[in-house]
Amino acid sequence: MMVVDLHSHSFYSDGTLSPRELVQRAKQQGVDVLALTDHDEVAGLKEAAEEAEMLGITLVKGVEISVSWTGNRTIHIVGLNIDPEHPHLKDGLTSIREERVRRAKKIADRLEKCGIENAWRDVTEEVGFEAVTRTHFARYLVARGYAKDMQQAFKKWLGSKGKAYVVGKWASMEQGINWITDAGGQAVIAHPPRYDLTRRKLESLVTDFKNLGGIGLEVVSNRYSKDEIAAMSSLARRHDLLASVGSDFHSPDNKYIELGQNLKLPPDTPAIWQEWFN
Ligand code: AMP
Ligand code: MN
Ligand code: MN
Ligand code: MN
Repeated sequence: MMVVDLHSHSFYSDGTLSPRELVQRAKQQGVDVLALTDHDEVAGLKEAAEEAEMLGITLVKGVEISVSWTGNRTIHIVGLNIDPEHPHLKDGLTSIREERVRRAKKIADRLEKCGIENAWRDVTEEVGFEAVTRTHFARYLVARGYAKDMQQAFKKWLGSKGKAYVVGKWASMEQGINWITDAGGQAVIAHPPRYDLTRRKLESLVTDFKNLGGIGLEVVSNRYSKDEIAAMSSLARRHDLLASVGSDFHSPDNKYIELGQNLKLPPDTPAIWQEWFN
């Protein structure tokens, strides 16, 4: 059986490995097909593709785009097999990274009001590029002792109920899907069980997504329960969407998530990669 993992991050977004190290780790873990899908960033794809070629594994060029749906809900759309040079996609991602910087400044302001000074300076010093995420703030808060671990950093500070929560004003879902499609890629809804949506809202998300040209749903991802996987498989089949799988690997520091592990699709669930290798 081919081992496929279509969702992962490098240090060009909020992962900790270089694209080269990520691909090497995938190879060690027995992955045959890996997608690098950094948040709103494609800068790591060239290096990842070079390393994959050297090691004889297939690198799918991907991206994970932050979009806003029905006003202020953030949804992540994974684009697979994109042309990272396509101007619509490139310009779109640049605009999202600009919003990331604006939002990060607001997060730092809120932290400052709570007595945590210099967060902006310290976090951007470490990040060194535009694709700043809440993960970077979380690592900073843990390192400085303001939270005991990443979970707590989100719960206490950065998550939707946290003291320094700032909602991003991303592009619309329609725009995100169009950038991916214009760049020759396939749009996939990332981690659908992770948005805290009611079943009805999730149905409505999937309906909108499909009407706007989306074609895939992540049916298996990190630490989904059996019930969640069955529900996502059923959702995909009912809406005639192709199933994707991905670990959402960020770092070897997370002992629970490994590249290519536990990503088997349930039977009778049409895989998005089925038609790629004919
Ligand atoms: P952002 O795109 O800047 O809003 O940051 C979102 C990222 O934060 C996600 O891609 C995850 O990597 C990370 N994240 C969100 N919630 C948590 C959590 N509870 N624990 C650890 N990481 C999280
Ligand atoms: Mn992330
Ligand atoms: Mn995501
Ligand atoms: Mn991700």
